Amino acid sequence: MVSDILAFGLERGRCTVTTNTNWAGNITYGASTFARPRSLDELRHVVTGGRRVRPLGSRHSFNTIADTDGVLISTVGLPGDIQIDTAARQVSVGGGVTYGVLAPVLQAQGWALANLASLPHISVAGAVSTGTHGSGDGNQSLAAAVAGIDLMGPDGVIRTLSRGDADFVGSVVGLGALGIITRLVLDIEPTFDLWQAVYTGMPWSTVLDDYDAITRDHYSVSIFTTWQHDEVDQVWLKDRDGAPPAELLGATRSGIPLHMLRDADTAAITDQTGDRGPWAQRLPHFRLEFTPSRGEELQSEYLVPRAVARDALQALRVLGSSMREVLQVAEIRSIAADDLWLSPAYGADVVAVHFTWLREPAAVESVLHPIEDALLPMGARPHWGKVFVAHAEQLARSYPRWRDFAELRERVDPQHVFGNAWLDRILPG
Ligand SMILES: Cc1cc2nc3c(=O)[nH]c(=O)nc-3n(C[C@H](O)[C@H](O)[C@H](O)COP(=O)(O)OP(=O)(O)OC[C@H]3O[C@@H](n4cnc5c(N)ncnc54)[C@H](O)[C@@H]3O)c2cc1C
Repeated sequence: MVSDILAFGLERGRCTVTTNTNWAGNITYGASTFARPRSLDELRHVVTGGRRVRPLGSRHSFNTIADTDGVLISTVGLPGDIQIDTAARQVSVGGGVTYGVLAPVLQAQGWALANLASLPHISVAGAVSTGTHGSGDGNQSLAAAVAGIDLMGPDGVIRTLSRGDADFVGSVVGLGALGIITRLVLDIEPTFDLWQAVYTGMPWSTVLDDYDAITRDHYSVSIFTTWQHDEVDQVWLKDRDGAPPAELLGATRSGIPLHMLRDADTAAITDQTGDRGPWAQRLPHFRLEFTPSRGEELQSEYLVPRAVARDALQALRVLGSSMREVLQVAEIRSIAADDLWLSPAYGADVVAVHFTWLREPAAVESVLHPIEDALLPMGARPHWGKVFVAHAEQLARSYPRWRDFAELRERVDPQHVFGNAWLDRILPG
């Protein structure tokens, strides 16, 4: 039988921490019941139990996207077997598996994912459902690696959707609104090594005038800034080819490891020595064994069409001093376009501007208004899993397939069994 539990948590893919909050601790889930099904039959029992339900991954989102007033279903206990199909170059994973569990299994058998987010701690299904991404001009969002999903609907029936099926492109970045992903099939490739190196002293003028020159020659590039100085703080390069250059467009290579957050412990950061190592140990910024980033923080992120990136960055520099009191650091990354309806990279190559804030919700919200006033008219789309203030009409305007998604939702979940207050706000009616 399904066990209702008062509190649960997730660390390294196992239930070890007792908490009913998200990872950052800024959201206390309002669920009346918590469930941790251990089989698809148990999951079906919860889903068809007559109450609103919501799937929960590894709890790393910063807003109430995963919350519910009904039953919050942890996916951590669902069947998590990992099956590699070498002929198809695909891996099949259960709906609660984290990248931190998946990556070593792939690596041990000679396989890799094309890209990862800054941390491996997150669940694949949760990352995919929110359009999570890494960086790289040639790298799409993590959702674009999905070749198929099994989705349990409100009737408890599992539908399999594969790339090319009519509902596929609408369902992968599904915000948890279309059902519970019980299995994903991901594209894989033969394992590869990368090096990582960090540079300091790059003038802002180079970033604004030569952004393409910074990003086009390396597999993954992250620029860190507090918007305060004439230079950005750090540029992180990750590449499969060659070796780290001594100098990068006026920036010099750091001789010591650097954390992107001031005074944070560099032990938590992946290798920056320039030595080549397996993809899973270089693509994320943070090591699995450590707390990623600061922990006590909020995050926001806006993905702007690459064509207007310069204007967006200039606007943010102007706003820089107004964020000073609440900003820990900002990160600029590039992501290639995909065709998934609610992906923030839908239809256009984008530049993502991420903000790590202090954990001060009111102060953060007050700086988000001017940021969104500047960026949304340029076509910026907020990261679904982070803090934003944009309302339904603004979001609808920035997604050409918004109405199609709303119709898909009405078709697969007409009673809004998977609905919650967050969805009511952004997808009313
Ligand atoms: C320190 C830190 C660093 C981060 N770095 C990045 C980064 O580099 N790039 C980036 O893009 N984002 C980043 N994020 C954001 C993070 O990737 C997203 O919030 C992501 O959704 C987290 O996955 P999760 O499993 O924790 O999802 P949760 O927060 O648990 O859930 C998110 C959504 O997914 C849904 N969901 C979860 N599991 C399922 C399922 N099985 N079926 C259907 N829906 C499901 C939930 O209902 C909810 O709507 C970072 C977050 C943190 C805390």
